[in-house]
Amino acid sequence: MVARVIFGISIAGRYTRDERPSSQEEGEKMESVLVTGSEKMDLLSLFLSEITDLCKERGEKAFRARQIYEHLHVRGVRSFQEMTNLSLSLRESLDRDFAIASLGLVEEQVSRLDGTRKYLFALPDGNMIESVLMKYSYGLSVCISSQVGCRMGCRFCASTIGGKVRDLTAGEMLSQVTEIERLAGARVSHIVVMGSGEPFDNYDNLLRFLRLCGDGAGEKRSLRNITVSTSGLVEEILRFGGERLPVTLALSLHASNQKEREALMPIARKYEIKEVINACRVYFEKTGRRVTFEYSLVSGVNDSREAAERLGKLLSGFSCHVNLIPVNPVRERSFRQPSQREIQAFAAVLEKYGEHVTIRREMGRDIQGACGQLRAGYLKENG
Ligand code: SAH
Repeated sequence: MVARVIFGISIAGRYTRDERPSSQEEGEKMESVLVTGSEKMDLLSLFLSEITDLCKERGEKAFRARQIYEHLHVRGVRSFQEMTNLSLSLRESLDRDFAIASLGLVEEQVSRLDGTRKYLFALPDGNMIESVLMKYSYGLSVCISSQVGCRMGCRFCASTIGGKVRDLTAGEMLSQVTEIERLAGARVSHIVVMGSGEPFDNYDNLLRFLRLCGDGAGEKRSLRNITVSTSGLVEEILRFGGERLPVTLALSLHASNQKEREALMPIARKYEIKEVINACRVYFEKTGRRVTFEYSLVSGVNDSREAAERLGKLLSGFSCHVNLIPVNPVRERSFRQPSQREIQAFAAVLEKYGEHVTIRREMGRDIQGACGQLRAGYLKENG
């Protein structure tokens, strides 16, 4: 990974052509959706103040920056040619030095069960990411990826099978939302950073993405309707609390004690479960946002009555939510879901301890709804 530094900003994520799919047919299909495999800075990831600086450096008036920013963030323009209120020379100079993060649709799957849509997108360097659109009574929610692949190694998760390939830029995170809005012809009300990748392993770009979302000069989105899910990187949870953004934190707990957690999540070896929960308490104190604990129920692994009792005790006195997720079986892994009765029994024990519990409704079960499954399947079939 090479971080480029322009205007004092470091953006991780260098595009490398070599990572394009090798198959001839795929290569041709990819050419039609790729904009660039360049190493240019992604203009969509920049704040208005940064675009203002780069305009000044080019001897342009500051108001040009707002025009560019509005093209990108209000009108959804994704090419310099379309920015017709800029001079031709400015457009050409921007085109020479910058790229605009854009995604090419490779595949779209629609669930016949609940209308959930899963998108496989190609990045300019040919890497693939997936994003999901879900319909709820309160509106449309998009689940976005924060990295290509993931290096956390959680035992039940398909995203991590090939490791981490690279971080996504803020613009690439944002583009998942805007591209889905364009494809679906509807505005998204909620964003969950719960797709492939560990958002806190890509902290600076995540923060940049969130700040762009909340920026009134662009298409202002409510940060209260954004959730960031982490496998539990303690320093970053504490740092994130210090940002005091009204974002919901979801913590992937998946276990009721240290030993059980270590068996499912390698990151647990780095941080004691109590330390992780304490960091979440600090997050709650700093932001006033209730933390959600995600608990993927795996039959015979973490779904016993004793585990439920331990979890109830572990979280007692902490005003939080527990979201039980029946594990979504991944082809490469042998984990199974508990029965509905067992899931209900687990929830009932937690409720006895006063926990606020929800059981995640499985969305898109017929379309490989879990993290990283579509990309993993695609890579397998297409090399
Ligand atoms: N890296 C972040 C966000 C990505 S995963 C994190 O760990 O939180 C989003 C959530 O889905 C996490 O709680 C993750 O553990 C869970 N998850 C991943 N694969 C799953 C599967 N096959 N079944 C159930 N939950 C899964």
